[in-house]
Amino acid sequence: MDDRTNFADTPEATDIAYHFHAYTNARRHAEVGPMIIEDGDGIHVRDNNGNRYIEGMAGLWSVGVGFKDRRLIEAATRQLEKLPFYHNFGHKSHGPAIELAEKLVEIAPVPMSKVFYTNSGSEANDTVLKMVWYRSNALGKPEKKKVIARNRAYHGVTIASASLTGLPNNHRSFDLPIDRVLHTICPHYWKEGRDGETEDQFATRCADELEALIQREGPDTIAAFWAEPVMGAGGVVVPPPGYYERIQAVLAKYDILFVADEVICGFGRTGEMFGSTTCGIRPDVMVLSKQITSSYIPFSAIVMNDRFYDPIADESDRISTFGHGYTGGGHPLGAAVALENLAIIQDNDLVTNAREVGAHFRARLATLADRPLVGEVRGIGLIAAVELVEDKAAKSVSTVGRLGAMMNTAMQRNGLISRNMGDSLGFCPPLIITRDQADEMFEIVEKSMGEVEAELGL
Ligand code: PMP
Repeated sequence: MDDRTNFADTPEATDIAYHFHAYTNARRHAEVGPMIIEDGDGIHVRDNNGNRYIEGMAGLWSVGVGFKDRRLIEAATRQLEKLPFYHNFGHKSHGPAIELAEKLVEIAPVPMSKVFYTNSGSEANDTVLKMVWYRSNALGKPEKKKVIARNRAYHGVTIASASLTGLPNNHRSFDLPIDRVLHTICPHYWKEGRDGETEDQFATRCADELEALIQREGPDTIAAFWAEPVMGAGGVVVPPPGYYERIQAVLAKYDILFVADEVICGFGRTGEMFGSTTCGIRPDVMVLSKQITSSYIPFSAIVMNDRFYDPIADESDRISTFGHGYTGGGHPLGAAVALENLAIIQDNDLVTNAREVGAHFRARLATLADRPLVGEVRGIGLIAAVELVEDKAAKSVSTVGRLGAMMNTAMQRNGLISRNMGDSLGFCPPLIITRDQADEMFEIVEKSMGEVEAELGL
């Protein structure tokens, strides 16, 4: 079949002909074609047909300061003119990497001491797993190599990080997860809580299940626990109060590290600078990406404490080098943009804005709870989800993803880009969004829901 027949001689046809898309049904793409975004400004983007949309997901949970921010563009330009590339292999360094490392340690929510640079969230998590293994060898505990993540977690798509991810589509047909990566219960009370179980009892059960897994596998074999403070791509899951306190008590008992994947939560998303603060987590390692540069430049960083770093440093001395690093790690352009991005977040108090506008937006979303299609409205700070169901009592749908896709299509038609994770609709707009814009966004959600209900004859 000639893929180009429906879109003859257009950018759409060229896209179909040559572009293999991420997270896309490749065969279906040939029929529906791409949505081509040409331009962005503030919280809006515009497609090549001139339609304007609110970017309700900040791209991929990432464009914190909005599109076309002048300060970021100028910081990037200045850095390109001064030093467009340098690296940090073999004792080399450069100003932006040094300044950013100091800054990240300074703003970390718990005492941290070192920063290692990578290029993406996946790479960062992959690197942390390598560091965990290296560290266990350094400590003379070669058996302590297993790690535990959670069902529905998202930590990326490289071989190690996709293994940490707890979503079937990231494993199926990829021969993943690799061994030594285990998963425990997702702390989603609405979905996983049992009849009659309180939130508090559920939090305790989550910690008990973690402990049982550790016991089954052998406590001396478990090195680290991985968690997004608030889960993002798994459907925006805010754990119940008391959950992390109990989880951390179990980890402390068995000398297990806590790796907080702050790739979505970091830099204000949860209404605090870091999700770890919001959730009461005291991580040994934090993984940062996305909003660190508002995704203007691919960039990520691993922030760690001495407990994590010291054995690794000793091992590198014993071997003669730490044999790991990326050409682009700590890229001067990314580091310069990250520094300016942080300054913008702080100068404009975008963390407070996320907290306040987020609370307002979520209060409006909560008014949808009684609608026939809504199972749960959840979120924290400026990240939220609406879970769609067909049967409210059974909390179920007959075809997974159908309602989510219908709502997504309706919202897009009405000028809002959101993202359906199955039947969870995600909302994660830029941190700069105003109260009025949040109202506009909500009104599109409400109107679209009315249209979908009508389409379903409800
Ligand atoms: N961790 C989390 C929590 C994420 O949300 C993501 C991306 N959605 C990643 C890791 C992977 O980041 P990347 O796509 O940059 O590899």
